[in-house]
Parts: sequence; C-alpha cells; structure tokens
Amino acid sequence: MTKIKDIIQELEQIAPSPLQESYDNAGLLVGDKNEVVTGVMYCLDSTEEVIDEAISKGCNLVVAHHPIIFTGLKRLTGSNYIQRTIIKAIQSNVAIYAIHTNLDNVLYQGVNERIAQQLDIENYKILAPKSELLAVEITCNSAAKDLAKDLNIIFSSHELAGGETQFHCIDGENLSLVKGQFPAILKGLVQKICTTYQSNIIQSPVYYKIQGSTSRIGSGVIGTLEEEMPVEEFLQFLKDRMELKVIKHTDLCVDSIKKVAICGGAGGFLLKKAMAKQADIFITSDYKYHEFFDADNRIIIADIGHFESEQFTIQLLCSIISEKFSNFANYCTSVQTNPVNYF
Ligand SMILES: [Zn+2]
Repeated sequence: MTKIKDIIQELEQIAPSPLQESYDNAGLLVGDKNEVVTGVMYCLDSTEEVIDEAISKGCNLVVAHHPIIFTGLKRLTGSNYIQRTIIKAIQSNVAIYAIHTNLDNVLYQGVNERIAQQLDIENYKILAPKSELLAVEITCNSAAKDLAKDLNIIFSSHELAGGETQFHCIDGENLSLVKGQFPAILKGLVQKICTTYQSNIIQSPVYYKIQGSTSRIGSGVIGTLEEEMPVEEFLQFLKDRMELKVIKHTDLCVDSIKKVAICGGAGGFLLKKAMAKQADIFITSDYKYHEFFDADNRIIIADIGHFESEQFTIQLLCSIISEKFSNFANYCTSVQTNPVNYF
C-alpha cells in the first residue's frame, strides 16, 4: 500500500523541499501524509475543477506545480476560488501537494529540462547555478578509507551531486581525515552515511560553507540546437513543439538560432545571465512591456506564456510516479487551467 508520504518522498528525492525559494509554499498543503493513495491527479494549478476531476476518478491526491495556498489564509468561508478549492478538497478527503520552485531549481527531471527536451536542446546546463556548497572534515580511525569510498559511490550516482563531488582520505599517524565538498542540500546524506560509521568516527563531522557553485541545482537552462536554425524557422518550431497560439517577442536581432536559454514560468530575472552566456534567444514568460526593452538588440526575448511554458511538467510528474508505482492510477488532468485566453 502506497501512502501519500511515499509519493512525496519520491518526488522530493528529485527536488528536495529545501530547494524551494523563500517566497514559495511548496509541499503538502491539504491532507494527511499517512493516508493510503487511491489515485493521483497531476496538474499545474489545483483548481476546483481539478479537485472535481480527481474525485470523479477516485483520486485522493492532487499533485500540482503551483501551490494553491501561497500567502496565509485567515478564514475559510468560500469567498474566493482558493478557499472554495481548499474546502472542497478537505470535504472530499483529497490531499493537495505542490512541487514548485524546488522542481524549477533542479536540472535532472526539472521543469526546465523538460522544456529543453521538448525543443531537442542538447548539452543543456543550469543557466544560473546556486552557489551553496559545503565542505566537510571527518576525523576517523582506520575505517576512513571505506567511509570515503562509500561517500564517493553514493554521491557519484546522485543526480543532485552531478558526479563532481569527491571525497578523499588523508592518513595521519593514528587518525585519518576524510575531506570533501558537496551541494549543501545533500548534508543529510553525508550525515546518514556517517551514522553507519559511527564507531569509527572520532570527532563529529565539521561542516563549513565554501565558495563554488553546483552544476545540477539552480534556475533556468542553457544549451544548443544540434543545427543552427534560421530565426523564423525556429520560432515556428518553438510554436509547434510548445503548442503555442502566440509568441510575444522582441526584434529578431539575429539571423539564426543556435544557443537557447530557457526558464519556465516567470524568468525575467535570468535575462542578464542568458545575455552573458550569449544565448541567441531567451524563452520564458510573464514579461512586462518595459522589460522587453532590456533585450537591447542583443538577444531575442520570447514570451511564450506561463501556462504554455510549464504545461509539460504535468506529464513529467505523472511519469516520475507512474514509473515507480503500479498499484494505483495516475492521471494527467484534462482540465485546461490556463486562466489566459487568446482571441
Ligand atoms: Zn509557474
């Protein structure tokens, strides 16, 4: 029997909750994590219609990208769509879980990797890596080599460590020192491995922050097309692949597209990074009139719409869980939750 907490654990192995931005409210928003899962509905926005759809399909968990509760709720009287959704979810025993900026901030199986794949982008990397590295020093007895070896094995296969983390062992006369550096988010993993060596560790591990950036954690992605594409051809390709009705873009200041920067959702804060890395085009959404001027004929800003940019996240989440669990049904919502229409 799979419980809601098992689904959460699976998803947060890919995108740990502490990777969410400080303004975010991702996580389990409604429901009891110990309930047995009867079915899961995946969506970008957990609207009332999505809760209805979940109920009709026998699902007691909705996994959304956007947290429906974002700021505090002071009363629950059904006076707006957020309150009505929460009331309906509670009354129908449907849990709501959101995986938001934590999923934006990981490369592997993240929101932006999914867009890059949709556009056949190659050699993609994080556009703005997070610089949250920790170093550790562990004073041990003779078992230190095995501890370093174990740490290396586990970290080399961890998607958030990116195979760059190296632990090594410095042998002293009586004691040895295991040293290494790793993305700060993985401190718990180091601690867990250390507990299995508890009897060999002489002094509690010492952690300290260091300069340097992670390669698998951060916002946006940047990569290249296999072959350079004439700019108008690329825009048509973008439209087809991302199922767009419209692209809002700045002047077509380049003839062809090779290097592509991407940020699903509101990514304007990454424009400077995209320019610094000489992207030909920056694909994102939620641009305001004055912000389009910032392209300054050095890059093409392509605003493809917030919903449109993130829509494939629904399939992404569904496939992550359906590949791991087979004892309940998984559904991608058929409700079109985009609040923006085009005429
Ligand atoms: Zn979004």
